[in-house]
Amino acid sequence: MLDRYGREIDYIRISVTDRCNLRCIYCMPEEGVPMVSHEEILSYDEITELARVFADLGIRKIKLTGGEPLVRRDLPCLVKELKAVPGIEKVTLTTNGVLLAEAMEDLKEAGIDGINLSLDTLDPEAFARITRRRALEKTLAGFREALKYSEIPLKINCVPLGHRDQDILEMAELARQYPVHVRYIEMMPIGLGREFLPVREEELLKKLEARYGKAGPCLEELGNGPAHYYSFSGFSGKIGFISALSHKFCGGCNRVRLTAQGFLKTCLQYESGTDLRKLLREGADRETLKKAVEQAVREKPRSHRFGEKDTGEEERHMMSQIGG
Ligand code: SAM
Ligand code: SF4
Repeated sequence: MLDRYGREIDYIRISVTDRCNLRCIYCMPEEGVPMVSHEEILSYDEITELARVFADLGIRKIKLTGGEPLVRRDLPCLVKELKAVPGIEKVTLTTNGVLLAEAMEDLKEAGIDGINLSLDTLDPEAFARITRRRALEKTLAGFREALKYSEIPLKINCVPLGHRDQDILEMAELARQYPVHVRYIEMMPIGLGREFLPVREEELLKKLEARYGKAGPCLEELGNGPAHYYSFSGFSGKIGFISALSHKFCGGCNRVRLTAQGFLKTCLQYESGTDLRKLLREGADRETLKKAVEQAVREKPRSHRFGEKDTGEEERHMMSQIGG
């Protein structure tokens, strides 16, 4: 599916819940998100029906996200249903890892194609401060369990906050010791993320090079999207950066997002998109849904304008509601 700027859209991030078992300070307020009833959230059948529409239009890869996707019951069942949709080639998951250890076997059975584990620090105190929960051990148990499934690619996502106690270089150690890629994600000014200053990629790279020696470029394609990677001598995995502000990648954007309540969002920053839940529940047939998706994708904004003056059109949601 092409948008009006000629970008091929083949990837969707589907949020399965707004809820989360952590409260990361840049993502969710202490009290959590406003409760929405179960009826407001798309059922697994509805998500799968929409996935058929997306697949017909050329979507090939799905990432399940949230909130925390593993707090939704029986998530592996959804993975299995999505994997059976003709045209869908990959179904992956992004998780904070707290419930991963116990879910890993079912996810594997369901055919999960990859896991992104969000982990900002290995220091228990810093973890508790950043996530407002003492759950580092659980996340690490999830990491260790996921490592056992060497056929399922595992990546670590870390958002540097610029805080002294966040052992940002220690995170790179994971890529040195284990066959995992560690990606540093630049803080985006969305929701509570607006209250933080992004840590510049160049600054991080300089520190990494001071410790591990000169970084080599890595031209291999390693995922669905915007990360660019470096190799360090002696490392098992790569080091990646996802820098939406300082290295804007909108020109090559290949993705759209579906919120837990069934709104198809075509750009992270803007409210633009279409309410697919409404259409679905009004009984729209597949052709009507397809047309609505095509129309929304055609109108996908050319790029975000983070860092510019507030135009009044920006997204007012929290990242936990969009799914990252
Ligand atoms: N709970 C799951 C997790 O943490 O992986 C899935 C949802 S979470 C919103 C997805 C990703 O978005 C996480 O890696 C998180 O660190 C990242 N994220 C949240 N707020 C962000 C922000 N303002 N800027 C950049 N990344 C953010
Ligand atoms: Fe939850 Fe993920 Fe947001 Fe942290 S980043 S509060 S784990 S949704």
